[in-house]
Amino acid sequence: MNHIKPISAEWDSDLLSQVQAQFERVARKISLDQNIFNRLRVPEKALIVSVPFRMDDGSVAVVPGYRVQHNDSLGPYKGGIRYHPSVNLGEVTALAMLMSWKTAVVGLPLGGAKGGIQIDPTLLTRQELQRMTRRYTSEIINFIGPEVDIPAPDMGTNEQVMAWMMDTYSHQKGYSIPEVVTGKPIAIGGSLGRKESPGRGVIYILMAAAEKLKMKLDQKTTVVIQGFGQVGAAAARKAEKIGCRVIAVSDVKSGIYNPKGLDVKKLFAWVEKKKFVQGFPGSERVTNEELLELPCTVLIPAATGGVITKKNAAKLKCKILAEGANGPTTNEADKIIHDRKDIFLIPDILANAGGVTVSYFEWVQDLQNFFWSEKEINKKLWEIMNRAFHEVWETSQKEKCNLRTASLIRAITKISQAMLVRGLFP
Ligand code: GLU
Repeated sequence: MNHIKPISAEWDSDLLSQVQAQFERVARKISLDQNIFNRLRVPEKALIVSVPFRMDDGSVAVVPGYRVQHNDSLGPYKGGIRYHPSVNLGEVTALAMLMSWKTAVVGLPLGGAKGGIQIDPTLLTRQELQRMTRRYTSEIINFIGPEVDIPAPDMGTNEQVMAWMMDTYSHQKGYSIPEVVTGKPIAIGGSLGRKESPGRGVIYILMAAAEKLKMKLDQKTTVVIQGFGQVGAAAARKAEKIGCRVIAVSDVKSGIYNPKGLDVKKLFAWVEKKKFVQGFPGSERVTNEELLELPCTVLIPAATGGVITKKNAAKLKCKILAEGANGPTTNEADKIIHDRKDIFLIPDILANAGGVTVSYFEWVQDLQNFFWSEKEINKKLWEIMNRAFHEVWETSQKEKCNLRTASLIRAITKISQAMLVRGLFP
């Protein structure tokens, strides 16, 4: 026997209840067609597989794996693969729904999906991780494909995992198919700028918001970021680059704080050597909970979901809350923040859409075998994020609602229009 022990109630997910409640609220507000409502409340397809793989000690671990396809009315399903102990059918479904809204709100010709394995990948060696990834890919092989459903990285997965997925898929089909996944290494058809895009996108949205709010982004703008992974680290780098002062960041272990500002470049070098942010010279230690309540201009939760709750929502001291993570704010907290009226909240499906937007660019480049410069990519990313922000802003003014509701109105309306015009088969 080994130490891998899965199992949890499949649909038992706070995130799913949260995402469905958000959908139901907005659907009522826009008097969504009842047939469309019934269909969008649940995913179109969900696949559960059990993934056996050999551990280095010779034993075989079996873990549950998932791929949930929520809606493909606007184009092929699209969304990441998450390796985390909390992954179950409910969580993956919630994340797949969020992907449908996300691609629709920024105007990509893609649907929404998500996948994952219920495991803590930090418990695995590189070889174990590779064997698990290859077997998982093989188990879901008939469910994915460049015209059908295109996976990408999410929490607990990275470029290397995407490379193994692409290689496994290609071997089974008999030829090289880079366009089956995005977020790949550049060497095998990945896109310039994809790695930084989730964090860069958050800052682009912040820039678009600041313009509307007539707010200057400079050294007086203090930024606190929870998470120093794919979203948080890139957001910190870009925030510093545009002249803001990053005063606190964190990782799974703990956070660091310096009200005078952290040198993000030096912090990257520190994390490269020491793996964690703790002990960074000149910083003071804070917990992940304390970090969220630090006084700042911009708070970016860019780690896991459900961190802003009814317990801490009243204690936040930020002016702008830009959701880098998927589902960081519970619905109860969302209501408290809305009622406070002193925090401008930019919801996840808008704020963190930079990753999937550059994933879309990567897929298009792979399909054409024609690659763009990083400058072109960042320019196109800015145009899409800026336009999406303005559209959501306009809707929020027209409908007299906050940005979360406005984003959902836009996304759900766009998808439902596509569904209505396509009609019902047969
Ligand atoms: N996992 C990322 C997200 O939640 C990226 C998805 C993608 O690129 O397909 O948006």
